[in-house]
Amino acid sequence: MKKPTALIICPHPDDGDIMCGEFCAQSVNAGWNVHELLMTTDEYGTTRNDFKGKRIKAIRKAEMIRASRCYGVDNNGNALLQLHWANYIDGFAPFTIKSVERLQMFIQKINPDVILGPDPFVHHDAHVDHLATGRNYYYALKWMDPKKRPKLMLFFQSLMPNFFIPILNPKTVFCARIAHRSQWTERTVKIYGNIQRFLYPFRLITVAGGRKSEGFRKVTFNYSNHYPQGFAKFVFRLFKDRPIGYKEGHFIPTPGQLQLKLEPEGEIE
Ligand SMILES: [Zn+2]
Repeated sequence: MKKPTALIICPHPDDGDIMCGEFCAQSVNAGWNVHELLMTTDEYGTTRNDFKGKRIKAIRKAEMIRASRCYGVDNNGNALLQLHWANYIDGFAPFTIKSVERLQMFIQKINPDVILGPDPFVHHDAHVDHLATGRNYYYALKWMDPKKRPKLMLFFQSLMPNFFIPILNPKTVFCARIAHRSQWTERTVKIYGNIQRFLYPFRLITVAGGRKSEGFRKVTFNYSNHYPQGFAKFVFRLFKDRPIGYKEGHFIPTPGQLQLKLEPEGEIE
């Protein structure tokens, strides 16, 4: 029988390992074909101006490749988790008809059975690229022929998860998270690894039976499902006006000065 295919769509290198690491580990272990798409490559992921642009991009790409190998490698030493790059610029991920269609074409090419992307509605990370990626993701699926949609469609970074998988591979996931060495220390990884317990403690108890779990929200196309409710409403209000990110002057030097193209050419490979 053909093994299922999974596709994870991430704004930046590290998001998948932080928010879907357990999913990656379990799907690779089960022998699935697992793909991860990175929308941007962290071109502005530093406060050091001399590193912005291609220099930090090369570092983050190398760290992402190292992280992907934590989930397992084939006989030739290549990661079983296959990476793809959309080549948008960190902080400038677009949300246009063109970007939605570009993502939709890629999804249809991979043809996944299970797909994951950021929750752009009830989220705990209001970073501009997370919102843009989540919106591209949502509309790419919404505008797709319903018969061609993946069987299971999930949001990560959601404050209202209703689909949980148990934590079974903490060592593997920790390996992947700390591979992003220029972004995280072991200590911050440990703290962040527990953050879900504070973001939706009641859901973890009532829906996941209090077990350590990774939580996702099922994608639906009914807007009334996307309003924050209950405890999620409270947490959402704390985070929605605090995008994790940028102070004034963060995008200096400008993408033009760094010779970064905001509009990548061609299909996503
Ligand atoms: Zn991110």
